[in-house]
Amino acid sequence: MKERVVSGYRPSGRLHLGHYHGNLKTMIDLQETHECYFFVADWHALTTGYRDTSTLGTYTTEMVLDWLAAGLDPEKCTIYRQSDIHSIPELVLYFNMIMSLGELERCPTYKEQLRELDARVVNTYGFLGYPVLMAADILIVDAELVPVGEDQLPHLEITREIARRFNSLYGKTFPEPQPILSKAPKIPGTDGRKMSKSYNNYVQLDDATEDIRLKVRKMITDPARKRRNDKGHPEVCTVFELYKVYVPDRLADLEKECRGALTGCTDCKDELAKRIAEDLLPFRERRESLARDPDAVREILEAGASKVNPIASECLARARLAMKIGAL
Ligand code: SF4
Repeated sequence: MKERVVSGYRPSGRLHLGHYHGNLKTMIDLQETHECYFFVADWHALTTGYRDTSTLGTYTTEMVLDWLAAGLDPEKCTIYRQSDIHSIPELVLYFNMIMSLGELERCPTYKEQLRELDARVVNTYGFLGYPVLMAADILIVDAELVPVGEDQLPHLEITREIARRFNSLYGKTFPEPQPILSKAPKIPGTDGRKMSKSYNNYVQLDDATEDIRLKVRKMITDPARKRRNDKGHPEVCTVFELYKVYVPDRLADLEKECRGALTGCTDCKDELAKRIAEDLLPFRERRESLARDPDAVREILEAGASKVNPIASECLARARLAMKIGAL
């Protein structure tokens, strides 16, 4: 029996290098060895984007195309859309009953996002309850493993706490899912912060060669290296971080050249941009070919929903039975 894995992405349009190295690469590897369920988290997108839902459909299609072009294979994993799984909201309702407000308010990512996002927009019941929805996504398919980054561990801990509490109140019903911690290299954005759409500092997986070159040219480098003959400090340079991933064969030489002021930042950046573009070329070609079949994504999502809905219904029936819901 293969262990069951679940992971979801909010549909936010085209994916970037941070997505690929952060989780997508792990998902592609896991489909070879585990029973994998990967979903488009469109309900999660509402927690911060409920005011404008006009892009939900397009972004879902774009993201699934990116997944497929990157290497997810519907023959090896199940790809579905969260809002097609009708049992999730009822499970959320039961979990809401056993989750305290304080536990949700103390979640570090909740506090951090309240600070970073417009508090008037995200001061909602749905935004606070996001980890409960996540718990239902995971437990509705009885997942045993969840690939996460360090920053998502508190959310997964809430899922584990909900599973423990439910099991202790109503009898053993859910597994207590374990994290698969990402070993992904750090992928900084062009401004040195975490690569993210909200910071507009990203390189998309399907960016054209020239766009990649222009974005890499804008990257933050060693601030002390103002002139070509100033000696550099690669350990503080964002470009050097990406060299570790995309140009590992030149890393040692570049370090010497940078420290000795033997190369300029523009040449260094152009070499990086060239290697990123070469690496992404097969992705771009596959994506162009996949996008020629407009029905493919719909068919994959329908097949995914047909497979997941019976699993989710069975899980919900088990939870209802344990809670004596509907009993006479
Ligand atoms: S030469 Fe390269 S590694 Fe050194 S500071 Fe310039 S961009 Fe960074």
